[in-house]
Amino acid sequence: MAKSDKNSLSYEEALAKVLAYGEPLEAEEVHFMDALGRVLAEDALSDIDVSPFDNSAMDGFAIIAKDLEKASADYPVSLEVKELIPAGGVPQITVEPGSCARIMTGAAMPEGADTVIKIEQTSAFSGGGNVGETIEISAPIELGANVRYAGEEVKAGEVVLPKGEVVDVAAIGLLAATGNTTVKVHRRPVVGIVSTGSELVEPHEKPGKGQIRNSNSYANASQAVDSGARTIIYPIVEDSYEATVEAFKQASEECDIIVTSGGVSVGDFDFVKPALESLGTLEFAKVNMRPGNPQTMGRIGNAFFFGLPGNPSSCYVGFEAFLRPLILKMLGHKDLKRPVVHARLEKGMSKRQARKYFLRGNVSKDAQGNWVARLPYSQSSALLTAAHYGNAFVILPEGEAKIEAGQDVECWLLRIDEI
Ligand code: AMP
Ligand code: MG
Repeated sequence: MAKSDKNSLSYEEALAKVLAYGEPLEAEEVHFMDALGRVLAEDALSDIDVSPFDNSAMDGFAIIAKDLEKASADYPVSLEVKELIPAGGVPQITVEPGSCARIMTGAAMPEGADTVIKIEQTSAFSGGGNVGETIEISAPIELGANVRYAGEEVKAGEVVLPKGEVVDVAAIGLLAATGNTTVKVHRRPVVGIVSTGSELVEPHEKPGKGQIRNSNSYANASQAVDSGARTIIYPIVEDSYEATVEAFKQASEECDIIVTSGGVSVGDFDFVKPALESLGTLEFAKVNMRPGNPQTMGRIGNAFFFGLPGNPSSCYVGFEAFLRPLILKMLGHKDLKRPVVHARLEKGMSKRQARKYFLRGNVSKDAQGNWVARLPYSQSSALLTAAHYGNAFVILPEGEAKIEAGQDVECWLLRIDEI
């Protein structure tokens, strides 16, 4: 029975070490349309009241509410239409008792008027209501109805979106409305991707005997982009000490984060650890998790270094478990975790290793609205299919255990829109 290695950190210990290295990066000024998904590094202020003036929320008539106090079906009140105010128009008259202005949605309220009555609630709904004509209204109306006041969204000089806020699609609208055509956000980290392995060829090549295609570089680069980083994909590094050192040195000069895959086992051609130790510092090399026990963290110069295992799903899990939270932290996010739910595991299983398991599963709600977790695809660390069709990590905690069908398991929701 496999025992956990004394040199292995728990996942939680390892993640804490990773996150201790990452601080939000410096601010950069970007066009507000390039800020989507990013975190504000400074408060965004409004240069005007939004909206800039009191305006109508309806197509109707700007009136004085008091005029309609006694209106009823038997004794409708007549008002004379003095002006037509389209959106963008500037009111010219002052509404006086007994009069009104025809007004369109978004148009500025005229002086004197305090309320807007919808056209549907006036005789003009069935025709008329032009300037010079009168309209009839047969019910009172609440003072201020259908008026949107200046500065309701935000006032001139006030903070519309504070530092630390994530710019979502609605925030883009707020930035536009408040004249924030550029904003300060945290810089995106540059993630350098280095795949090691003399057996690797690039995706456009047909592998020869003993060769396989490099898939990790592209899956990891996509995970990095998905997390908000910029990426540099470096050429494949052959399994030699010199080539590995050379590649890491170059990446450390160009990147904030270096992510490697492969070469971290105890094979005769695994040079990642020695290369890292010769150029920088090694913090840890093993984490008590599965898949992917050999996770290697360190630093080269100013670059954070993380060596992922070569097996494609170990590599995928390691990125999600360590590098995504780090990238989010460097981008200034506070929420570094995926949403977590607890689900009933559909089928029991024996966990024969003490490590924490990150299984690639599918989480959904059953007819009663309870979360259920299934593991329909092979969990082999060499295969990525379960990661693609899965929408969650099904987490089994450290320690040997027999997990019965129906037992509660923690699940990280990776793709909420697939649930
Ligand atoms: P290693 O950690 O270098 O011993 O690699 C473990 C396994 O992952 C081997 O079967 C490798 O061929 C495979 N592998 C390593 N790097 C990659 C990669 N970039 N893309 C796909 N498979 C890889
Ligand atoms: Mg290798």
